[in-house]
Amino acid sequence: MDLVGLFPEEITTWLETRQIASFRADQIFTWLHKHAAQNFQEMTNLPSSLMTELEETFQSPWPIELVASRKSADGTEKYLFALNDDATIEAVLIPEEDRQTLCISTQVGCAMACSFCATGQSGYVRNLWASEIVAQVLWVENRLRAKGQNVSNIVYMGMGEPLANYDALLRSVRLLNHEKGLNLGARRLTISTCGLAPQIKALAEEDIQVNLAISLHATTDAERSQVMPVNKRFPLQELLEACEYYTEKTGRRISYEYALIRGFNDTVDQAKRLKRLLKGRLCHVNLIPINPVGPEKRPSAKVLTEFAQVLKAGGIPVSIRKERGTDIEAACGQLRQTHLQE
Ligand code: SF4
Repeated sequence: MDLVGLFPEEITTWLETRQIASFRADQIFTWLHKHAAQNFQEMTNLPSSLMTELEETFQSPWPIELVASRKSADGTEKYLFALNDDATIEAVLIPEEDRQTLCISTQVGCAMACSFCATGQSGYVRNLWASEIVAQVLWVENRLRAKGQNVSNIVYMGMGEPLANYDALLRSVRLLNHEKGLNLGARRLTISTCGLAPQIKALAEEDIQVNLAISLHATTDAERSQVMPVNKRFPLQELLEACEYYTEKTGRRISYEYALIRGFNDTVDQAKRLKRLLKGRLCHVNLIPINPVGPEKRPSAKVLTEFAQVLKAGGIPVSIRKERGTDIEAACGQLRQTHLQE
């Protein structure tokens, strides 16, 4: 059990088993989640006997520890964290003028095996606990506060398929969103999925207003299955139906991520097909020049612009994502892979 994965009422239960007053639960939760406390000795309104008991039981508030980091020339920072079982995960901080976006992991490795992804190539190890997901945010929040900044946005776009770790994902969303904690508005949280249709429908039924991003990357089943094996389980039609259901239920616009790979999915015809697929949907397309981890190549800026123009002319809102952190192995799973090889 990790303290940082518990809601106040669950901390209360833990305290009760030790005959400790239940009002301490809110204090502990606030220290952990609102103040991003790095150690139990900072919790100065707790009796020292309780601080010691917390230390003896949990060692540290965070079940993660930094083992490596890289800072890009553009300010992007990548962190490699070790978990209590020595498995490693990545998180990436993307600073912009008006926001600090943190990309976090939900699994060690990933079972989805997307061909363009270093994490997918390394295989699946295990799901993260909610505490391990939330701790990535608290660790970075603690670090940013020293500079007078805060984590403003979270994208569940790091290692792993978030919807394949559904319960821990939702618990982490509710912890980050908790009014006694960081209180990050659900609209500042984006869950990215490779397309697990049943879980997209389940998410639509939850009482949370998170953003949803779909990794689409191709416009036919044959092409998509070639780079994303998940498409064989949930083909495009089933995926898009689940997305439609999500929009109907939540009224939320969905982001479709489309990583352009030269000679694979970057032609004008493919742009027109994408336009037809998304026509009439409440959507936004993010075009991303691929961050290659294998033989894939990026298209030229001209091809990228032409692709975007086809969508724009068809009334599909589109943006081209700025490349960040290419000098620090920013593609998902690259830093971990290097670390494992070393
Ligand atoms: S792109 Fe995402 S879903 Fe696909 S293998 Fe990588 S981490 Fe998994």
